[in-house]
This record gives sequence, structure tokens and C-alpha cells, in this order.
Amino acid sequence: MKKIQMVDLQGQYEPLKAQIQQSFNEVLETATFINGPQVHSFQKELEDYLQVKHVIPCANGTDALQIAMMALGLKPGDEVITADFTFAATVEVIALLGLTPVLVDVEQDTFNIDIQAIKKAITPRTKAIVPVHLYGRPANMEAIMQIAKEHHLFVIEDNAQAIGADFTWSDGRKQKLGTIGHIGATSFFPSKNLGCYGDGGAIFTNDDELAHTLRGIVNHGMYIRYHHDVVGVNSRLDSLQACVLRVKLPHLDTYNQKRRAFAHLYSEGLKKNPHIITPEIPQGDTSHVFHQYTIRITNGKRDALAEYLSQNGVPFGVYYPIPLHQQKAYQDSRYKEEDFPVTHQLVKEVLSLPMHTELDQEQINFITKLITDFV
Ligand SMILES: *Cc1c(COP(=O)(O)O)cnc(C)c1O
Repeated sequence: MKKIQMVDLQGQYEPLKAQIQQSFNEVLETATFINGPQVHSFQKELEDYLQVKHVIPCANGTDALQIAMMALGLKPGDEVITADFTFAATVEVIALLGLTPVLVDVEQDTFNIDIQAIKKAITPRTKAIVPVHLYGRPANMEAIMQIAKEHHLFVIEDNAQAIGADFTWSDGRKQKLGTIGHIGATSFFPSKNLGCYGDGGAIFTNDDELAHTLRGIVNHGMYIRYHHDVVGVNSRLDSLQACVLRVKLPHLDTYNQKRRAFAHLYSEGLKKNPHIITPEIPQGDTSHVFHQYTIRITNGKRDALAEYLSQNGVPFGVYYPIPLHQQKAYQDSRYKEEDFPVTHQLVKEVLSLPMHTELDQEQINFITKLITDFV
């Protein structure tokens, strides 16, 4: 059996090697490192794939979120509602801009922001909602867009973990995640479902005016060289990263399909275990892209199981071990512990198993057998 890795980027690189190296060579020989043709082509190809009017490439997913919030013209003290159970980047940029993060609880079955909790958290100062499609599974965008419409709020989708996923509306229509809110933000960090070989990110919108603002902000607030119309930042996707992304984008659907197939195998192998809750898999559906395959261990033995997996050469992840509202940087007397029952439970129960495009059945059987023997 091959050594089990949490993510296998070398294995994924092997069949793409010749194409990526050739593309790198072209950039090296033409010295078009910044804003070169590769970046423009990637932008167009991603717009086509997502069926969105505007893709604005940038330097990483955290910048993408920050720039999205800058473009909406939010002012210090404005409140932004987001999930308590997510990667810190989401809340970090809210705080950095002097906005007030309002963390709310998530749903047990989907791990995503709780719709009732959003409603409860809205005040006259609320300006935006940032749903995170955690582990590659869509938040309930239909309900969120409805709330946003009623309360005149912006929606920024944190799509760092769910690129390529479809959202299915109640009338059956499908739409790519990240293109439903006013703005979507994603990351091309190497281990994401569409990863480059360094840092990278992108912002999506169907709104022409917002797109214009976003394009200015990523480039020092400039539309004409050395004329600075708004306060901006320097956030660019470089050409070498665009080369990698252009080679990988045509494979994204296959990659996500493989992740789903491995998720099915895991769930099949673990289903008889009374102390394990496997993630819901929306049937016959392309909505979950399994950035992570995350189980819940309900008998209090999560950490012991993790230790046992480690001893047997199986890597794992705990995403995320501490609720954001309890992190030193984001503690606030506004928060009441009783408002976060689900997050409190999830931080103790979740365990993410190896998930990437190069897994195989033998490895998954080995992992599920270990878990079953232990639990
Ligand atoms: C990875 C990630 C980000 C940040 O992306 P970077 O490219 O690492 O800055 C933001 N939000 C979520 C949910 C992520 O998983």
C-alpha cells in the first residue's frame, strides 16, 4: 500500500508535469511575470467555468475576502455576521477593517451557518452576511439570500473550500457556489480543491459596478497609472500560478468527482459504527465537493482515535479545535456561551480523514478498518 497522506500534491502533479513545465518555460522566456497573458486567460476560463460575469484574480483567499469587504464601502462599526466554526481568515479580515464581527452558531448536520442564528443576530447596524461553505458543502444560500433581501444586506460567500460545487435552488436550477452572493471569494492555496503551487485567490461577481471597484482595489486603487481613486492594496495572482491553475481547471470536475467517490467509500466502510456520524452526502448531486471528509465521533474518544490513527501511519486533521468566539483575538463580552451549543459540540467531535485526488480503495479500506476496530 502507498504511504497515506492527508494531501498528495506530488501524485497529482505527475500526469500534469510536462504541460505545467512547458507553460512555466513560456513565462520564464517572455518574462511576463505579473499581469501576463496567462493571468488574463485564466480569468476568462474561470469566468466560463463558473458562468459568472467577472473574475478578479488576487494574491490569496484572505485578500479576496478583505477586498470584497472593502468594495462594499462598509464603515467602522458596521456589523458582519459569520460562522463561529470556520477558519480564522473569515473573521480576521472583518476585524482588520474595523468592522464588527458577529459570530453565530452553525448547524449540526451541515456544519454551516445556522439560518435561525443569523436572523437572531440582525440589528440595525448589520450590513453583511458571510456564509462559509465549510468542507465543500453549500450553506443554505436560498435562505440566506432571502434574509439578505428582506434586510438589505450584502452577502459575501467564502468559497475557499467549495470551488466547483453546485448549489441547487428549490426549483431545481443549479448555480455554481461563489456566484450567488453579491461577491464570492476563493483561495487557490495548494491543498484546496483547485490549488496552485504557492498562494493565489480570486473574487467573483455578476455586478459590473462592483467588479470595477474590485479591479481598482486590487491594484492600489488605480485605473489610470499613478491616478489613485480609492485606497487599494497590492494583491495579484502571478503568472506562474496562473499557469498551474490553467492546466488544472479542466480537471476540476474530475477531481471533485473523485473526492465524492472516496467519500462514498469512507461512508460505506464506517456506516455500521454507532459512535460515528458520517457526513451527509447529497444524493446524485454535485453540490458537495468534499474539500474535507469530516466525521463526528460521539462517544468522547475523538482524541484517542486520532492518536491511534497517528500511531498507525494515518494522518488526520481537526478543523477546527477552538470556537472562534473563544480565540484570544476575537473574544468579546457580547458573546454568550449558551448561544453556541453546536460549535461547542463540533470542536470536540470532528475528525477529518485523508482526502485528495490520489487516494485509492485499499487505503480507504485500511483507514475505515482501523477506525472500526478502535471504536
Ligand atoms: C483557506 C481558507 C481561506 C484563506 O485562504 P488563503 O488563500 O490561505 O488566504 C479563507 N477561508 C476559508 C474557509 C479557507 O478554508
